[in-house]
Amino acid sequence: MSESKSTIQMEIDFQKQKRENVFRERLNKGSFYVLIEAITPEKKEDFAIAANRLKAVESSLGKYDIIGTGLAITDKTAGWNTWNVADFANELSKEGRDRHVLYLSGRNATIKDVSDTIARCRSSGFQNLVPVTGDGYFPEGYKRRHKLNFVDSVCILNMLKSVDEDGFHFAGCTMNPFKYTPSDIFPQYYKMVKKMKQGAEFIVTQSGWDMMKLQELRWYLEMRELHFPSIARFSLLTIELYEEIFSGKKPGMIISAELRKILLNEAKYGYAQFASAQWRRLQIYAAGAKFLGYSGIQISGIERQEHIATACSKVAEAMNEFKSFEEWRDGYLNYLSRADMTPYPYRFYMFNNLFTRAYPELATMKSADLPVGGKFEKLHYSLCRLFFSKVHRHAANEHLLAKKIFVGCRRCSTCRIPFTQFVCPETCPKGLANGPCGGTHIDGTCEFGGKQCIHAKIFRLSAWQKELHSLEERYIKPLEKI
Ligand code: SF4
Repeated sequence: MSESKSTIQMEIDFQKQKRENVFRERLNKGSFYVLIEAITPEKKEDFAIAANRLKAVESSLGKYDIIGTGLAITDKTAGWNTWNVADFANELSKEGRDRHVLYLSGRNATIKDVSDTIARCRSSGFQNLVPVTGDGYFPEGYKRRHKLNFVDSVCILNMLKSVDEDGFHFAGCTMNPFKYTPSDIFPQYYKMVKKMKQGAEFIVTQSGWDMMKLQELRWYLEMRELHFPSIARFSLLTIELYEEIFSGKKPGMIISAELRKILLNEAKYGYAQFASAQWRRLQIYAAGAKFLGYSGIQISGIERQEHIATACSKVAEAMNEFKSFEEWRDGYLNYLSRADMTPYPYRFYMFNNLFTRAYPELATMKSADLPVGGKFEKLHYSLCRLFFSKVHRHAANEHLLAKKIFVGCRRCSTCRIPFTQFVCPETCPKGLANGPCGGTHIDGTCEFGGKQCIHAKIFRLSAWQKELHSLEERYIKPLEKI
């Protein structure tokens, strides 16, 4: 991986820091922040009832000196046809909207839909926005031949940047550090840096339970001098949720076999004991996130309103529980009975000495055996480079037959293969050109099943061509169709 020092910090417009924004100020000061996830409901649910529930959730957020609290309102995670996230969030009190974070999903959306939602967020006073591409699940009865349209989170960040001349918005990005092979993990990091270059100023991780992976992300950021605040997402588990994750129904979420054994054991003695184990887990993870350099956590899976205050006060309590990183680390490892958190047989970490200390002063990177393509892949690449290096400048229907044979051409309005190592981004079910989503399975296959994620091949070819830097530097525009 490229270890060049980043110039991203230089690009931040410091005028932006002047606008009042509680969330940003707390993050920049390093005070711990707790975001509680609230889900934008499906349209089949009555809007007024859902809005009242949201107001009740807002009123349950306590006030604590030691932590800041706010809501993270997710977009298009409840189902197929949800209310607009900005309209739903607009039901919150007009005061203190800078406490909250809104997600903007590109799932089943067009560029116009997304820009409309950005405008609504702006007019409603929501500054803190996190673009996501969105999960690939299909609604029941949906025919897969009808391809869903996704707007890439990198493109949404680019859109936000281009409409935000006055620095109103504070944009974040998501990333999934819970990947365990070089082919899977490095593309995630390249895409994260690309998102920063497109204006993301903070990071929210995917949910996960392996704290070494969270440390790996912080060490990577520090070694690259990417001083961006980060928030660790943590899901409160229910038995149903962990079974779904374990059976691969939650793209990108991983529970190792040994953690599953612990969870099954916790569930043996009934709901109350299982629930109290989850609260304890939340406290240990929250304290760990703080020691590892995270600026807060985002908690999902709180099902009852009365549990919101409990979650916030448990986290506030945990902030004072451990006196040092070493004390916390031993507590965490003992709580997990030193369980293996990796999804066997995949267990790659970027650094040799994670968990020996909190900060990476003496960190050494593992030498990763980057995957190499076979002879046929290299020959195919060389022929494509010879014939198609300039196809992005040609009319869409030029060289159609050759492109069909070599790269499975789908007759896009503009051909983007010269920017993606001659792998057509439209062969990704989400049409992602700027890097992978976080949803690959543990063996690197696409979240939609079947083939390997196309971005593993793009990574492999980029490594062979010594063009890895382009994976974080080159912004690839979306197609005109969307
Ligand atoms: S090919 Fe990769 S980026 Fe595309 S949907 Fe599948 S896992 Fe996600």
